Order: sequence, then structure tokens, then C-alpha cells
Amino acid sequence: MLTGVVFDIKEFAVHDGPGLRVTVFLKGCPLRCSWCHNPEGQSPEPQVLRGSAGERLAGVSFTSQELADRLNSLAALLRVGEGGVTFSGGEPLAQADFVAEVIDQLDHPHVLLDTSGYADVGSFRKVAAKSQLVYFDLKLIDSVAHQIHTGVDNQPILRNLRVLNELGVPFVIRVPLIPEVTDTEANLSAIVRTVAGMPGLQRIDLLPYNKAAGAKYAACGMVFQPTFDESEKLNINLSCFKSAGLKVRVV
Ligand code: SF4
Repeated sequence: MLTGVVFDIKEFAVHDGPGLRVTVFLKGCPLRCSWCHNPEGQSPEPQVLRGSAGERLAGVSFTSQELADRLNSLAALLRVGEGGVTFSGGEPLAQADFVAEVIDQLDHPHVLLDTSGYADVGSFRKVAAKSQLVYFDLKLIDSVAHQIHTGVDNQPILRNLRVLNELGVPFVIRVPLIPEVTDTEANLSAIVRTVAGMPGLQRIDLLPYNKAAGAKYAACGMVFQPTFDESEKLNINLSCFKSAGLKVRVV
């Protein structure tokens, strides 16, 4: 039986997918987005956060059965409406085998995978195929800019988006709006060209940059170093999505 590391479990979440959900935040992420507001999710290891309110451990080990038992104990409530379990992070696919083993032991059928899309294709396929809905981040289509602002190449992400489309699992594209980085006309138009016509696409969610993103870095012993100017005005442009006939919302 596999063991995974989880840095938070949010019960009765109402913003992490349809209905009432439990969201599991898995530790470890291969990206280093300079706007990341969950820096404690980046390292795969448990770590102690130190702040003015004291110390807190981020990262607890569970066996797949222990985590499934905890999620199943809430299953009766989650079955009301369209609720279920959301796997988020960090990047949940950094622990893909563990997540897949947990899903296999769940009583409740509705699983949402919330992913950056950055994973080897086998890991991506394994968990996405067990999910009823995927929240898929699409940040930057330009590969050089993607490398600069997230620390990784976007080719695996774009490949996994095509895999997702072939799998036929419904998905929502999530675009973090970062001033003068992802919110540009060129980037948003390139996103439209990439996803338009994909049959599984349910809608686009635009997530405006949260200026509180840097708050947790000191507690993690990290330095917040945005690759963009936080004071720039954000361009929230829905028109290029709407004119392509795509459903879009700001969340
Ligand atoms: S993919 Fe998400 S968790 Fe990973 S660094 Fe980027 S914002 Fe943070």
C-alpha cells in the first residue's frame, strides 16, 4: 500500500468544484510559478511553518487506505447534489500512484482532479481517467515565457491537454491572470486558439492575481520574488473568449 504526503484537507469546500466537496491538498509541485500563493505545497517533504501565530506542520503522511477511510467517512454528505472529492496541491500528479490508489478505494464516485497538467503522460492518464472532471491550468502558451515565469517547459502540459481531450473527460481550463504576463491579448488569444473546438471543454475560469500571494513565504523560510510588477493594472478581458463562443467566468 502506498503512502502520500498531504498538507491540508479542507472539508465542506464550496469553491473547489460542483456541490459540497472535500479538497485534499497534496504536497510537492515541480513548478515554481512566481505568483504561487501556496508555497508550502511546493516541497514534497513535510515542513514546519513559523509565523506570528506560532508553528504549524505542513505535510502529514497517510497510507492510501487511511486517506480513503477519512474521505469515505464523509461520503453520505458529499453524495448530496453533485459533491465529491477534489485532489489539488501543490501538484497532485506528483503523487499520481498514491492518488490513483486512494481513488480506487473511494465509495463516492465524483472525483475532480485540479492540476497544472505538468506530469509524465502515464501519470496524467492514470489519474485523469479515474476522474469525472478535471480543472486544468493553462498559464502561458509561449514556451520561453512559461519557462521564465514557472520554471518549467510547457510542452508536457500542452501534450497532456491533448491527452485529456482524447480521454473524453470533461474539463475546465483555469487561467491565472497575472499582470503583463498571462493577461496579455497575445496570450489570451493563444489560449483561445489552443482550446477552441475541444469537445470536453466545459468553460474557462479566469483567476485574477491575489496580491496576498506573498504572505506565506516568510513562514516557509522562502523569499517571495515575483517575476512581474504587482502594481500593474490587471487586464480582465473576456471578449476574446466570448467572440470564440467559449463560456468564460471570472472566479
Ligand atoms: S502549479 Fe500551483 S502549486 Fe505549483 S508552483 Fe504553480 S501555483 Fe504553486
